[in-house]
Amino acid sequence: MDLKQYVAIVPDWPKPGIKFKDITPLMANGEAYKYATDQIVTYAREREAEVIVGPEARGFIIGCPVAYSLGVGFAPVRKEGKLPRETVKVDYGLEYGKDTLTIHRDAIKPGQRVLITDDLLATGGTIEATIKLVEELGGVVAGIAFLIELTYLDGRSKLDNYDVLTLLEY
Ligand code: 5GP
Repeated sequence: MDLKQYVAIVPDWPKPGIKFKDITPLMANGEAYKYATDQIVTYAREREAEVIVGPEARGFIIGCPVAYSLGVGFAPVRKEGKLPRETVKVDYGLEYGKDTLTIHRDAIKPGQRVLITDDLLATGGTIEATIKLVEELGGVVAGIAFLIELTYLDGRSKLDNYDVLTLLEY
């Protein structure tokens, strides 16, 4: 199936010069959403993932159906102040300024094999911060799966030591 036909490219959003990849048409199409999810499920099985972790908000859209299909748990990574119990946190750089991501301290058991999911790899900042959280809790990053990779931003260079799956490249 050609998944690219279900990704809408929105010029100059959210800022002039950006060509935003909108995955909502893919999610809206049951067959396409299932096809994409099934490929990540197969990968997660190969990597023997025991828990799925994804950053808000689109990492949930990719990761939760994968967790459900495998019958394993899902742990959300969220912006600071959103998770109600004890968390660990990491600061990460944005184009302008910085932001903070958090995960519940008990979300991952030491040694557990973790599959990290997000919709899109751009500069790699978000995923690098998510990896740090998983590893701080003693999790083993078994693999990282994205729907889309923007190869021209070279986020991959931050993921040299990890196994990465991307379904679509731009
Ligand atoms: P990075 O941290 O790799 O620079 O940016 C990736 C994060 O920003 C992902 O969590 C992703 O959801 C979001 N993102 C950045 N650009 C796009 C885009 O064009 N489309 C979508 N769907 N998400 C984007």
